Parts: sequence; structure tokens; C-alpha cells
Amino acid sequence: MPKIAVLDDNMINMIAAGEVIERPASVVKELLENSIDAGASRIVVEVEQGGRDLIRIIDDGGGMDADDLALAFEPHATSKIRVSNDLEGIRTLGFRGEALASIGSVAKVTVTSRTSEAIEAHSIQVDCGRKGDVTPCSGSCGTTIEVRNLFYKLPARRKFLRTPNTEMSHITEHFTRIALAQVSLDMELRHNGRSVYRLLSGQGVKERIRVLFGEALAEDLLETSRSERGMQIRALLAKPVAARASGKYQYLFLNGRFIRDRFILHAVKEAYRGLMEPNKYPVVFLFIQMPPENYDVNVHPTKVEVRFDNANLVHSEVLAVLRDKLLSTNLDVAGQAPSPDTDFDSSSGFKADQRKERIQRAMSDFFSKPASAQHQRQFSFSSGKKGGGFSPAKSGSGSYTPLPDMPVFDTPVTAESFQPKQYLQVHNSYILLQSEEGFVVVDQHALHERILYEQMVKRLNEGNLPSQRLLMPHSFEVTNAQLEAYESQKELFFKLGIEVEPFGPNTLAVQTFPALLEKADPVEFVKETLDKLVEEGAETDQERLVHEVLDMAACKAAIKAGQPLSDEEMNQLLKDKDIVQRTSRCPHGRPTTISFSLKELEKQFKRTGF
Ligand code: ADP
Ligand code: MG
Repeated sequence: MPKIAVLDDNMINMIAAGEVIERPASVVKELLENSIDAGASRIVVEVEQGGRDLIRIIDDGGGMDADDLALAFEPHATSKIRVSNDLEGIRTLGFRGEALASIGSVAKVTVTSRTSEAIEAHSIQVDCGRKGDVTPCSGSCGTTIEVRNLFYKLPARRKFLRTPNTEMSHITEHFTRIALAQVSLDMELRHNGRSVYRLLSGQGVKERIRVLFGEALAEDLLETSRSERGMQIRALLAKPVAARASGKYQYLFLNGRFIRDRFILHAVKEAYRGLMEPNKYPVVFLFIQMPPENYDVNVHPTKVEVRFDNANLVHSEVLAVLRDKLLSTNLDVAGQAPSPDTDFDSSSGFKADQRKERIQRAMSDFFSKPASAQHQRQFSFSSGKKGGGFSPAKSGSGSYTPLPDMPVFDTPVTAESFQPKQYLQVHNSYILLQSEEGFVVVDQHALHERILYEQMVKRLNEGNLPSQRLLMPHSFEVTNAQLEAYESQKELFFKLGIEVEPFGPNTLAVQTFPALLEKADPVEFVKETLDKLVEEGAETDQERLVHEVLDMAACKAAIKAGQPLSDEEMNQLLKDKDIVQRTSRCPHGRPTTISFSLKELEKQFKRTGF
């Protein structure tokens, strides 16, 4: 007796449904896609009990006639492709002919549909694979599909469904993805008789983001686009400071289809590298258009993954469009002033006026006096280190050395060439600086760290870090693991401008060290780098490793918090801030600068409206 049996169609559909229809949200996704493919301009999604009881989708698309209705629930029934060649240029969201057959095999489904040529509508019912007859009925142009009691004959799967609220949040997510991808559609989502979202066509994607994600997120989005090498990319991206703890707010769309793609997500991460904490996820909405011939969507049952013919191109274009925008944007963090004191008595107008005047006078006083006078008169927490003539060679280990090989300034950087000082160091850690809109607070360590990091990245892109030979080799003992790590990563040390050589058994010696890192201790730095290599193991991503080492190097070599700086050193640091790109955040992603606007101050001091 043969043991092999060919499964009947309904079994095939139920198995396919396992892949395509995981929960109510998958039904919503598939049906929405069908409505879009049918050319709908308006779609209403009505859900009851998170879709466990009912999902009803009403569209005004092209509809189906009686013959198509009879076929629509057959497995592999599709109007969207005919021959294998069609697979290479898919322009519709669906094409596998699986969705209706799958849904029909696991729920009670009614479809009513009417084409624009027909004088009446037709309807068909399918109950867990049992198909009824097509019957004429009344109905307007377009299609209405009702899906009731999903999985009701499959208790194991029904049991797997979560609470209505959880299922509804999945539905909302799919609705959101489609709403963002198809802004020309009028869409509504209703739950238990209440409207959740009502989205009008022609609103634009930013408005949709505002409705779907809230004012705060939409408000701060930067916008950019790029069109090159057959790809058009439009991006809405948040500043690094708005990054989230999860990747939930990273939306990728390819020709109107929501996708997940690790190459693109990697490019996004790269674009924000060093601008935010490494374990955060930037908020981005990326809309990519490219010829459908240049990628394959037929690699995943729900078509959420695609395979690009040229993934490197996609990666570099996405990286370029985001990076360009981030580099050309001031990413300084706006100061979050505390909320105004509530016990401020606004009725005592006289006192308020006096206070206002005093503050005004003090401010204008401060910013008009020459720097040195202020320094001595008002702020006497000086350092013991007097800011003399600016001379890097003379500066001790605690001083700030300007960057070597920075672009040449128009005017030489000397104390004389500056305006009366408009900044001061507080607590030997922060620099206050007047700006056009108000003032900024600079974290001296974070900023210098950032400057060094950028400088090293730039140098590495050009070749190696320039190094200098140490007067004497600095030798140190190593473990076997460290020695191995060194052997396998010689190239990395070479790039960093660090020459290390064996110096006896289990001993290495540092011979050369990068000039940029002169504040760091060579042995300590090399040892820590070796430890990092040991920890990371053999198959580390080289590029990431380099950046991690640079992070470490910048941190070690940067001026510290608590370190007094001379005027000239501060001058130089602030100059470098403007020169080096992306200096708004340190490599670890902490802000380097926080700005406060006069407006904010005025609000705090209750001056608005005066
Ligand atoms: P696919 O979308 O992959 O073609 P489906 O099973 O989702 O497969 O749908 C089968 C067919 O039913 C579609 O190809 C289409 O012709 C028709 N169809 C489904 N939904 C609609 C709709 N809302 N309006 C018009 N036709 C539809
Ligand atoms: Mg479909």
C-alpha cells in the first residue's frame, strides 16, 4: 500500500494559510493590498474585537464579475501574472494568488463585488473551504469582503490569538504601513464601531505621520531626497536625539510596498553612526522607487522581504541621502528648560519689571565687557594655569592642543583676532557661549572627543593615521590570547599608525603612536585594544571594530571634564567645533552642545508679552 498521499486543495490552502495568515492583522494586510491592486481610491476597514469576530474591508476598486468571484478562492488564482516572465517586473502588491484561498480555508468569508460595467453585484460565501454559489445581489461598484470568526475550526490557532487590544495593535501597524505607502488613498480604520483613523487623500506623507504617530514626532522630521542611478529616494528622518530604543520607527517602502531589509537598515545605522548612542535606533521613513525589474519580491510568503540585484548600490544610495542630510543639519540639542516656577506671582508687576531690568542689564553687561576683565572680576574659580600666548608646544598634559592639519583659517587664530570674549568656562567642564539665538552650553570633553574622532575618521579614509616614533619603545607583557589577537589584527594597528613589535617572550613593544592621540598612554591604549580584540573574537566586523577603537581612542585622548582651559584653548576648541563636521554629538552619542534660545529664557523669566 502506498504511504504517500497527495493532499487535497483545502489541506493545501490551510497549510498555505499557516504561512500567510498568522493573525487578523495578516488578513487586513492581504485584503488591503487586494483593494489597492484593484485600483481603489477609498478603503474602509471595519474591525470587531481585534478582528477575532469580524474584519470587513470595503473598497471602490474595479471589482469582480460573477466568473471571477467563482475563481477568486481557488488556490493560485490570480489576475496579476500569467507567465513566468511576469515575475520579473511585478508592479502589483499581490501576485501569488494565495491570500483569498488561504483566508477562505480558515474563516467564514463573504465577498460582494460589482464591476463598473455590471448592472448588479454578485456575492459568494466560503466557509472554511466550503464554497457556496455565486448569487446576484444589490451593491455598489467595488468590493466588500467580510471575514468572520477567523480560525474558528482550528482551536489550536484560535487559542494562539491574543487579546482584542493586542490584535488590534497589529492591525493598526499594518494599516499604518499601507497608509504611509499609499498617500493618494482615502483610508479609514474603525474598531468596534469607532473611528480610529480617518486619512484623507492628498494630505502628504508628513501629515499622515502626524496623524498616525503624533505631532511631536512629525514636527521634528527632516526631509530630503535623492535621485541617482535609477533610484529615487525620499526620506523623512528624525534628528539623532529623537532616536528610540527599538527599530519600530524605521519604515522602509519600496515602490509602495512596506519592506524589511537588513542592507537598508544597516545603511541607516551607518548614517547615524557616532551621532547617537550605539544601541539606539533612529526614526526614519524611507520611500524608495526603482524599476521592479531590479529586485525580486518572490522570496518571502508575505513579500515583506525582497532581494535586490544590486544591494550595494541600494546601501550606498541610502547611506548617501541620509548622511548628506545629517551632515548639513545643525544637530545641536535644544535646551530643555525646567517648567516655569508656579509660585511666581504675576500680579506683582512692579517686582517683575525690576527683575526683568536687572537681568537685562546684567546680561548686556556681561556680553559687552572684555573677556579678561570678566574673568578676573566675576569668575575667580580660575585654574592655577594662566592662559598665556597660545603655544601648543608649551602646553602641559592638561591643555587643549589644536587639531593638526585642520583647514587653514582665513585669519590666523590668535587671541587678538577674536571679538571680546563671549564665552566662559564653568566648573572647569562646560563652556558657555553666546549664540545668535541665545546661548549654548558645550561639554568640553564630549566636544573634544567628537573633534578627535572626526579627525581620525577623516585621516583613516585617506590612509593611515600619521604617527610619530616614540623616543624609546614602550614594552609590556601580553597573554597568549593578546598575542594571537595582535598577530591576526596587525593591519588594524598599522592603519592606526601604531607599530608594535615582539620584544622578547610574551612581550610586545609600542614603537610608534599616532600624533593625534598624544594625550593617551600608548601601552594602556594598545593593551585595551588587544583586550577588545580578544573579547570580540575572530569573526568581528572589521569596520565596526575600527570605529569602536576610534571611539576609545578619542575618549582617552580628549581633554577631560574638570580640566581648566585657557581662553586660547577654548577659542581653539570652539573654532574646531565649527570646522569639524557633525560635532554636535560625541562618538558615544551624548550631545556635545545644548542650546538655549532667548525665547526660552524670556518665557522662563516671564518676559513674554511685555
Ligand atoms: P493575488 O492578490 O496574489 O492575485 P489573492 O488571493 O489575494 O491573490 O486574490 C486573487 C484574485 O482575486 C486577485 O488576483 C484579484 O483578481 C481578485 N481580487 C481579490 N480582491 C479583490 C478586490 N478587492 N477587488 C477586485 N478584485 C479582487
Ligand atoms: Mg492578494
